[in-house]
Amino acid sequence: MAEVVLNQLVKSYGGVTAVRSIDLKIPEGAFAVLVGPSGCGKSTTLRMIAGLEEISGGTISIGGRVVNDLPPKDRDIAMVFQNYALYQHMTVYDNLAFGLRNRKESEARIAEKIAHAASILSIEPLLQRRPKQLSGGQQQRVALGRCIVRHPQVFLFDEPLSNLDAKLRAQMRVELKRLRERVPATSVYVTHDQVEAMTLGDLVVIMKDGLVQQVGTPLDVYNRP
Ligand code: ADP
Ligand code: ADP
Repeated sequence: MAEVVLNQLVKSYGGVTAVRSIDLKIPEGAFAVLVGPSGCGKSTTLRMIAGLEEISGGTISIGGRVVNDLPPKDRDIAMVFQNYALYQHMTVYDNLAFGLRNRKESEARIAEKIAHAASILSIEPLLQRRPKQLSGGQQQRVALGRCIVRHPQVFLFDEPLSNLDAKLRAQMRVELKRLRERVPATSVYVTHDQVEAMTLGDLVVIMKDGLVQQVGTPLDVYNRP
């Protein structure tokens, strides 16, 4: 777990300012949800935290360390993407093992980590399948598993439920909530869905036009006229 601090964070694409100036402190262990209409800068903000997007100004700190110039792999983050981003030609097991093998972890240790993540996510029976033999919800569980086995300080979620139907979304909201209790980390979660923000967030960050409009608990933010 680590505190995430954004300080006067700015992003422009040529003439378009996607993020105007964001100041935000996400305490260690908090689950922050960035919510707001399409185009308000949520995804750009998340991608800057991940190191997938160069920043135009300001600073990003993770665990007290400025990470502006660090590549994604040195930021101690793991990101869950909307489209799952699984390797299609590999089994679920090999998808989960991939990053750990790159880090030269032993197969025994990898097997242990995968068993743990698979049990949290109830995907044990799926380990020898390939992604195309899985439903959308199962693929998203595997994508979550791939992040859990990395033991990152910070989880980043980019609209992870938006490709699922309403029933599965409701189920995954419950599962994500349960996951929070079992896998300690600081989380930043992007969505345009208020229900997700209310259910999952302990810090709700309402964005508009590249700025933070309001920050608070779900009660603070949604119970006000
Ligand atoms: P959100 O995630 O809230 O929907 P984004 O962060 O994706 O918003 O986009 C914020 C703004 O930045 C939008 O106006 C979008 O069109 C613009 N934008 C995002 N990515 C690019 C890009 N690669 N080039 C130019 N403009 C972009
Ligand atoms: P490493 O274990 O050395 O980070 P990986 O093979 O796991 O190497 O990842 C290769 C690249 O992709 C790295 O930059 C890593 O940070 C990034 N990466 C892999 N999985 C994720 C993820 N779930 N979220 C964010 N970045 C990831």
